[in-house]
Amino acid sequence: MDALFPTYARWDLTVESAEGAVIVDNTGKKYVDFVSGIAVCNLGHRHPAVTSAVEDQLKKYWHVSNLFKSDLQQEVAEKLVSYSDLDAVFFCNSGAEANEAALKLARKHTQKSKIITFKQSFHGRTFATMAATGQEKIHSGYGPLLQEFVYLPYNNCDALEREMDDTVAAVMVEVVQGEGGVVPGTEKFLKKIEELCSQHGALFIIDEVQTGIGRTGKAFAYQQFNLSPDIITLAKGLGSGLPVGAMLGKEKLKESFGPGSHGSTFGGNPISLAAAKATLSIIFEDEFLAEVEKKGEYLQAELTKALAEQDVVTEVRGSGLILGIVCKEEVAATITALRENGLLTLPAGTHVIRLLPPLTVTYEEIDEAVNIIKETLVGTYVK
Ligand code: PLP
Repeated sequence: MDALFPTYARWDLTVESAEGAVIVDNTGKKYVDFVSGIAVCNLGHRHPAVTSAVEDQLKKYWHVSNLFKSDLQQEVAEKLVSYSDLDAVFFCNSGAEANEAALKLARKHTQKSKIITFKQSFHGRTFATMAATGQEKIHSGYGPLLQEFVYLPYNNCDALEREMDDTVAAVMVEVVQGEGGVVPGTEKFLKKIEELCSQHGALFIIDEVQTGIGRTGKAFAYQQFNLSPDIITLAKGLGSGLPVGAMLGKEKLKESFGPGSHGSTFGGNPISLAAAKATLSIIFEDEFLAEVEKKGEYLQAELTKALAEQDVVTEVRGSGLILGIVCKEEVAATITALRENGLLTLPAGTHVIRLLPPLTVTYEEIDEAVNIIKETLVGTYVK
């Protein structure tokens, strides 16, 4: 471990194998995985359909470059387009790259530079996406940042009305703030962004990196509210664990992203796209998505019931299978205790336990997780 930059405060856990919603460590201990590689392994670990699609592609070719035509990219792009209100796809490798593409496109298309984002948002770690992220701790030490980003309070229509004018190139927003505390955006707020963007010639960009690909029970979270963004960005769940990101945009934006305007050597590489194609063929099915919604409601209801007596818990919130247990105290020690008791979870901010189970999680696994959470919080859990 000493040969790595210490950018991550790593857990004392080395994974030996993983399947579905279960991770086994190098001592043979089993964990129920409610992290899913941070909302990546939406089909659970090593889903057989994704495994076989990747194996097939490995036997054909691995990488050629985006100078060649790609039926695979066309197929995945058509699937993404047909499930959204958008018309064109740019493939890249990560969420930050998808957002980077969106921000560049917004400036180029509108010929304006001011971008509005929100406090406690998270959009990535590159210079542009770090600047877009409304959290000082992410900026710290890296100044001067890329200019002309304005951070407004989330879910606050008045602040937005005051700031919006014709100099704004784009508003970028998460439908549920993931890293910032699992905070769902209100319909009123999200609709207000759309309305003001269209009034002022700004692009409405939705960051679906964490909420997209079925996580909230819709193909994309914005579809809960019948919104019509100009751009959405994806990554995480798209490749089930193989790196791939995507920016989807409206037809009118194509002219601003012509040959030579933007690019990526690895973007949309065939192995990742084989995984993406298999992933979407399962997740973008009405029955699958309806089941995610049902499981999300079940998990939220069971947690609310189980934690009703816990003074430390103020709320269980979220959407579909991105849920947060909001606590009065810092949650770092609880997350360690949960892990020791066999359940992997994440913090979102300092006071929220974030739950991101695979969308394929079973009801038995949900029950087991709720039980571990309940017993851990009362401090009496014994395996
Ligand atoms: N946007 C959101 C909403 C995210 O949650 C993340 C990562 O957590 C990113 C962007 C950045 O994605 P990546 O880490 O793939 O660059």
